[in-house]
Amino acid sequence: MPEGPEIRRMVDDIAKAVSGRDAQSVFFAFERFKGLESALAGRRVTEVAARGKAVLVFFDARGDDGPWCVYSHNQLYGKWRITRAQTVPKTNRQLRFAIFTQNKAARLYSASDIRLVRPDALDQVPYIANLGPDPLNQNLDAAAIRERIADPTFARRGLGGLLLDQGFIAGIGNYLRSEILYVAGIAYDKRPGDLDENAQQALAEAVVTLIQRAYAQKGVTNTPERVARLKQQGKRFGARRHMVFGRDGQACYGCSTTIERINVASRRLYYCSYCQPA
Ligand SMILES: [Zn+2]
Repeated sequence: MPEGPEIRRMVDDIAKAVSGRDAQSVFFAFERFKGLESALAGRRVTEVAARGKAVLVFFDARGDDGPWCVYSHNQLYGKWRITRAQTVPKTNRQLRFAIFTQNKAARLYSASDIRLVRPDALDQVPYIANLGPDPLNQNLDAAAIRERIADPTFARRGLGGLLLDQGFIAGIGNYLRSEILYVAGIAYDKRPGDLDENAQQALAEAVVTLIQRAYAQKGVTNTPERVARLKQQGKRFGARRHMVFGRDGQACYGCSTTIERINVASRRLYYCSYCQPA
């Protein structure tokens, strides 16, 4: 399942293909949107954006009809494909939504949650209404995330489960969860209410730093310096990608303690018992 940084990279690809360009035609598979194909054709795509794991494609206003946003959430199955306009991808998947510009086509396959909404009504889409602050797509700094961590609503929930809750902070998935807790030096079973101010600050900084780093480094959360060193030692991509995630049985980079693996909220979590004391 893609995490926030992967969705954002996908959105960058879609934006590169269609943003700032006129949609020559638009396709919807769902009958209820068919009438809007001709209403959107010829309009400019003004922006392609992500919120959590949702993808938003904005079309400008035309005549006295205001702007539109096509909201889509891929769930587990949806897949975007970008091609040249004339190319028809070979696939058995069901085409659900497509935008054709003069040179490019952006096609969304298999996704079932597609909605057409006015941009000013986006916050009423249930998924978005329930989404926590999104550090990657809303450019939030550590201070904003720290405020969230200090919110009494979340004080008594274990961080191992809480960090996967998109209503707490948007965009964190399974590998980021382990990496964030490791960098912050916090055990997975601590709760926000257990953390002193320094620990809250460390956690907020780790959230922002790692989400940004994973986006910039295409899913790699290890520090650029360590990645370079491991590369020189001949380590493969999978062996240099993360600090603790997927490294059970191996030595912690910081203290040489053996990294351990457990399941928290039904997903695997990795930690160093020395660097993240109970
Ligand atoms: Zn350690």
